[in-house]
Amino acid sequence: AEGVSRRSPESRILVFVRLRPMGKKEKEAGSRCCVRIVNRRDVYLTEFANDNDYLRLKRLRGRHFTFDASFPDTTSQQQVYSTTTAELVEAVLQGRNGSVFCYGATGAGKTYTMLGTLENPGVMVLAIKDLFRKIRQRSCDGNHVVHLSYLEVYNETVRDLLSPGRPLVLREDKQGIVAAGLTQYRAYSTDEVMALLQQGNRSRTTEPTRANETSSRSHAILQVVVEYRIRDDAMSVVNRVGKLSLIDLAGSERALATDQRTLRSLEGANINRSLLALSSCINALVEGKKHIPYRNSKLTQLLKDSLGGACNTVMIANISPSNLSFGETQNTLHWADRAK
Ligand code: ADP
Ligand code: MG
Repeated sequence: AEGVSRRSPESRILVFVRLRPMGKKEKEAGSRCCVRIVNRRDVYLTEFANDNDYLRLKRLRGRHFTFDASFPDTTSQQQVYSTTTAELVEAVLQGRNGSVFCYGATGAGKTYTMLGTLENPGVMVLAIKDLFRKIRQRSCDGNHVVHLSYLEVYNETVRDLLSPGRPLVLREDKQGIVAAGLTQYRAYSTDEVMALLQQGNRSRTTEPTRANETSSRSHAILQVVVEYRIRDDAMSVVNRVGKLSLIDLAGSERALATDQRTLRSLEGANINRSLLALSSCINALVEGKKHIPYRNSKLTQLLKDSLGGACNTVMIANISPSNLSFGETQNTLHWADRAK
């Protein structure tokens, strides 16, 4: 893996940016590339004057951001995995928790980065593959047990993506907050996992008006729990447990229009409470606050044990290169900049 140095020792949040290639529709609309990535870290965003004539688009001004690493559109899924998540998989085997989020507007490449395709599997699949490879390499006096659960938060309702049905209720018990009745799928190899996740992804909520498209307001959370069990006489005893959460967040376009403070006054409006609550938690963590407002949403309750404290947290901000998405890209980069 490529070395990524942490910006400050106390901050355990690493922030990455991934630029996707220009899409067919964007090209046809005559869009221009407004993002440039230099030295694998620096992102230059250019604003063009909109004269309604792309041939005469004028460069207005540029902005510069820097992150732990920034991925140009030629970066492979494997490179993204190795730089952002491989270390967290190692930590999970040591019994530590961690989480990786993909953040960005609808169409920016979150699901591609997290789930990917059959030919180009994403972070979720590559993490599980690497996990099994690492387990096989270990010679140890016990055995590892891997369980997967895949769930959705949509409009503050939690659903099981591996066994779709009624909404799940969150309960607090000794282990923390758990979704009662959630499927814990015992995984033995990588091969079964891609199909399982794609199936799960098809169960994500779709907007009634666009029946085949996943709702931009749906968060998908894959949780990989790794137990290390040792034999103690006839009994198998759990020696350590680590949990990795991989999250394909809802589209950020709506949430960005809203300020944290107006959250309460907008109760019931069409905003994404979980996304705003996640931002508040991350800001509180970055500022080193003692109180982290996990209770404000289903997403943050579910991730309470995987965010902050001794956990590793990774953000991947996904952006489009097209000047047509300038506003969303700028908002995403500002958000990512504040998460550092
Ligand atoms: P989101 O989940 O953020 O709404 P998607 O992941 O669905 O966005 O990406 C939108 C489109 O762009 C999809 O057709 C996807 O396959 C394509 N795409 C996204 N990122 C990449 C990439 N890095 N390389 C190639 N195609 C990509
Ligand atoms: Mg998506």
